[in-house]
Amino acid sequence: MSLNGKIVFVTGASAGIGAATALAFASEGARLLLAARRADKLAEVASACLDRGAEAVHCIELDVRRRDAVQAAIDGLPAEWAAIEVLVNNAGLSRGLDKLYQGKIEDWEEMIDTNVKGLLYVTRAVAPGMVARGSGHVINLGSTAGELTYPNGAVYCASKAAERAINDGLRQDVLGTPLRVTSVDPGMVETDFSLVRFHGDAERAAKVYKGVKPLTPEDVADAIVWAAGRPAHVNIARISMTPVQQANSLLFHREP
Ligand code: NAP
Repeated sequence: MSLNGKIVFVTGASAGIGAATALAFASEGARLLLAARRADKLAEVASACLDRGAEAVHCIELDVRRRDAVQAAIDGLPAEWAAIEVLVNNAGLSRGLDKLYQGKIEDWEEMIDTNVKGLLYVTRAVAPGMVARGSGHVINLGSTAGELTYPNGAVYCASKAAERAINDGLRQDVLGTPLRVTSVDPGMVETDFSLVRFHGDAERAAKVYKGVKPLTPEDVADAIVWAAGRPAHVNIARISMTPVQQANSLLFHREP
């Protein structure tokens, strides 16, 4: 399926997997709607997307945790941007790596509000238009963390297990329409993810990737664009992908 000229909405497009996904769709000549909280970073990604071949780019400064703002952003789209064909629900984060009985409740709130509720708000705002137009693809960022819980990560893992349930539920609920629903579930990807998890502690973040060649954001973007580009009758339900040195969310082979 050609993605040329299609409207692709990427949340969390200011960095990491979201930025790489925006660039990968740009290479296909898509029209890109990019959302995140950091407008300056979004503007940089937007400019790179235009250089890469995007037909047009429209940026939205948006915090997906703000339910009213999410709905207003979608309702307020200029008419030429309203027909979203692909939604990539990528905005998300981990915060902290603590035993559940010692975890910070603010960290939990942030993860659940962003990874679960934010994803729901955006989907609820965008999917009705897809159903009405009889065309659309929702691609959610899950994680191997949603398949298997790792120690000290119960709440992040729970948020990604929720994504898995929402993804599978949505696919059932749009049955009978031409909509497609896909979860892309990466293992370790080197982005700002660990820096954000450890509240800016770069030394601790670097240790996460020690002795492993992690996935790159581009590897994940490649899978997302591949799923979106399948013929219209093909639904890719789930892509679970890890570095070769990672067997699952618990087990790594680290070079000394
Ligand atoms: P990242 O480099 O930290 O990027 C996260 C993106 O999400 C940023 O663009 C950030 O933008 C945005 N974001 C965070 N909170 C937001 C909010 N409330 N509203 C709007 N945007 C928000 O991390 P990443 O690794 O690319 O993560 C992207 C997705 O992949 C997440 O869902 C993550 O759980 C998932 N994932 C990551 C890995 C990994 O190992 N890196 C593995 C599996 C799954 P602003 O700060 O500008 O808002």
